[in-house]
Amino acid sequence: MDIVDKNIEYLVIGNPICHSKSPQMQNAAFEYHKLGRPYGKLLLEREELGEFAEFLRKNLKGCNITVPFKEAIMPFVDEIDPLALQAKSVNTILNKNGKLYGYSTDGFGLENSLRENFGMTVGGKSVIFVGVGGAAQAIAWHFASLGVKKLYLINRSIERAESLGSAIKQNYPDIEIVTSLLADTERLGQAIQVSDVIIQATSLGLKESDAAPFDFELLFLNKKIKVVDLIYHATPLLNFAEKNQFDYTNGKDMLVYQGAKSFEIWTGLQAPIDLMRAALDD
Ligand code: NDP
Repeated sequence: MDIVDKNIEYLVIGNPICHSKSPQMQNAAFEYHKLGRPYGKLLLEREELGEFAEFLRKNLKGCNITVPFKEAIMPFVDEIDPLALQAKSVNTILNKNGKLYGYSTDGFGLENSLRENFGMTVGGKSVIFVGVGGAAQAIAWHFASLGVKKLYLINRSIERAESLGSAIKQNYPDIEIVTSLLADTERLGQAIQVSDVIIQATSLGLKESDAAPFDFELLFLNKKIKVVDLIYHATPLLNFAEKNQFDYTNGKDMLVYQGAKSFEIWTGLQAPIDLMRAALDD
């Protein structure tokens, strides 16, 4: 595996990877602690994951994994944190003396974003996920571990919502779980009426031409509901939330806090949150 810059000790891997802002964010944290700029990015094909894991074992201190490899990397990791194992998602690897340890920090990221933006803790709350792909699954498992009261798992394809719902229920029998199709507007309306937060976790909204993931007018059924879009920038949903004075946040703080947790796992040092956030805007 050919890494041109020999100063690199950490990488984010994915495909595509050119859009990733993790290097600028993580390097701000390393520089703050006078550790240089050791974090780079690497485009990989799925067939290269095994070779990459060996490279990591011999040459790097850690890495982040992004779409689409958070599950595919798991067979190459020696020890996986129980939550990451449940969520079938590893976004952080620590290399300790040649042994690879895997973690999922996405749920921690959103937990802290909710705390910072809304003063909200997850315990005892009702939470709607619109879209239950990889990111939502990691978050849902983390929220389950924090004592969430009720999860609405709403997805275009019902099978994905149902298999997530039944796996969480097996491990956390006290959590109420409702699954439904994204197309079922009535169910979504009912969920909105009784929930504390709605998390838009589909990939819709990344492109301007994308359809709306759901009918935003349904939010008027509960003016107190907090609105989250996991996408880092303004989306039609967030524009609607702003115009109509809902409390809302995008995925930027989740990105910052999941990265901060990775940094702390690798270095044992406190992550400079504000610097990392500012670095994302550079
Ligand atoms: P996945 O590909 O794993 O999941 C995509 C989700 O979007 C699935 O629920 C899928 O439904 C749904 N979806 C895709 N296309 C459509 C469509 N046309 N209509 C309805 N539903 C659709 O992606 P991730 O979970 O990894 O990422 C989801 C979003 O979260 C992305 O926008 C990503 O940028 C963001 N993200 C943000 C992070 C942050 O730190 N802020 C971290 C990770 C992700 P189905 O199951 O039916 O295919």
